[in-house]
Amino acid sequence: MNSISRRAVLRGGAALAVAGFMSSPARAIGHLTTGDGELTIMADGFIKLPLSAAMPDVPQAELEKLLTDNGLATDALVNDCNVTVLRKGEQLVIFDAGAGPNFLPSTGRLASNLAEAGIDPTAVTDVVFTHAHPDHIWGVTDDFDELLFPEARYHISQTEWDFWRSEGALDAMPEARRNFVPGARNRFDRIEDKVSFFMPGDEVIEGVEVVGTPGHTPGHSSFMVHGGDTPVHILGDAATNLAVSLERPDWPTGADQDPDTAIKTRTALLDRLANDKAWVIGFHFPHPGAGTIERKGAAYRFVTA
Ligand SMILES: [Zn+2]
Repeated sequence: MNSISRRAVLRGGAALAVAGFMSSPARAIGHLTTGDGELTIMADGFIKLPLSAAMPDVPQAELEKLLTDNGLATDALVNDCNVTVLRKGEQLVIFDAGAGPNFLPSTGRLASNLAEAGIDPTAVTDVVFTHAHPDHIWGVTDDFDELLFPEARYHISQTEWDFWRSEGALDAMPEARRNFVPGARNRFDRIEDKVSFFMPGDEVIEGVEVVGTPGHTPGHSSFMVHGGDTPVHILGDAATNLAVSLERPDWPTGADQDPDTAIKTRTALLDRLANDKAWVIGFHFPHPGAGTIERKGAAYRFVTA
């Protein structure tokens, strides 16, 4: 039995479905085309955080009002996790590896959802990371502690790699996030002989531009997929909760390592994306997280694909 069918059997095929998986047109939910590239958005699960942990430094009453106005619960922020797969010619590229089996009970669905969608992880040629937080990188290893994408080349920001391996990384983490450091280092060790580094402005894959979006982490990167009439921007965590990030991009979040830099990055990026009328895929937006950004007064709103 090969590894995929073995996984599928073990997991009993339990999977979140890929919403609206269609081959065309470009605007179908869960699936976008751009030139010769096809993008499919896979669910990895969701993360639920108490408001006091997600947004500790904003007026809680204003936050609750914003959530209520958006029809959202006020006991916690719930963020989905969306992994993007790009098929382009011979290349099968995955943007972030999901959380894998060892982060939260509500995450780690990627492997079973890939199997469900008929995507063979051993056929993945490239894994491109936005950053090295657990929900984005811990999934490089599966429940057998083997590499989920054994044939892939891995790509990560040089700044990001150097930060997590630096002596100062532990000191930079609040107590609740200290396990992020050994978690990232452990995965780095596993991919060390298969990794390539990029910097902002580089072309990580042909037609895929690295956009430096620091603040959430030191080397956080987003990616602009060119080639079609409309570019597609893979946002990562430059914006996290859809309602909060777009209505109050100026609010500091508990998840951003350097909140001031993250606010500058987020406001500048939303401005660019609204100007470009680019398609956007938000890693933590409600699944599948694809749409466009429009201005709404001094802030922004999301128009789903
Ligand atoms: Zn994240």
